[in-house]
Amino acid sequence: MRFKTLSQLKRAEPLKIILGNLPQSILMAEYARARTFKITELVRHTFKESYEWYGFTLADPAHPEFIIDIGLPENNMNLQNYTTIGSTKIAEFHESMPKDRIINGWIHSHGALNYKHFSTTDEKNNRTVLDFVAAGTRTSLAKKEIPIQDLALLEKGRFAEKDLEKGTVSLITDKPITEAKIMETVYGSFCYSIVIGDGGWHEQQIHYREKSILSGQTAVWSQSTNIKFVDTGRTLNPEEIQAIGREVKEKIKPNLNPPTELIERM
Ligand SMILES: [Zn+2]
Repeated sequence: MRFKTLSQLKRAEPLKIILGNLPQSILMAEYARARTFKITELVRHTFKESYEWYGFTLADPAHPEFIIDIGLPENNMNLQNYTTIGSTKIAEFHESMPKDRIINGWIHSHGALNYKHFSTTDEKNNRTVLDFVAAGTRTSLAKKEIPIQDLALLEKGRFAEKDLEKGTVSLITDKPITEAKIMETVYGSFCYSIVIGDGGWHEQQIHYREKSILSGQTAVWSQSTNIKFVDTGRTLNPEEIQAIGREVKEKIKPNLNPPTELIERM
């Protein structure tokens, strides 16, 4: 066989049909922002000192891209520049959550520290939280053709074992066919990550994971982004502020004598 030009040698691009998108910036209700900075304020007020704390960003399952609330799990230990939260506490928090809420990320405070960006410990947490929330934020991104060079088409009940030796993939159909495309779903998940501090500063990233269901191709990446604050009309009322105060007392665990190995790790 002869090719007139080299371009004829190029294989056709696999077919890809876009079905959905992952968020490129963070959407957050003003109410959730108010809760975040109220927690920070009440931590400082309650313990007369700024402490780091960890929380989760929450969304309605129908709109996983929109942060509408902040959840405070019980932190195991809070220091001025270090916080620990165990998997048991995370599981407890998850079980106590109302059915109409999902976790779409995590938020933590650097308190009064002048360290206004993500630390290496934070980077590790980002991956852990992404794995934890991926099922809740999962969406179909595309249907993508799996290019199969040597697809063997067989008809149900009309082939012998020998026929299965042919081709890289065999497709068995109930009626004879001459052509077929295999399309797989590409799923995408995301996780928001926000770090804040006293004075109202914030830095944020979105962490992504994409997985093709048949070929198993997986990609993980992240980007720094901005937050678009949305006024939903909901504001923090005095009862809610009191409730946050009680939560802070119960869930934040300042430790003035941390074990030495922790001090070394800071
Ligand atoms: Zn941090």
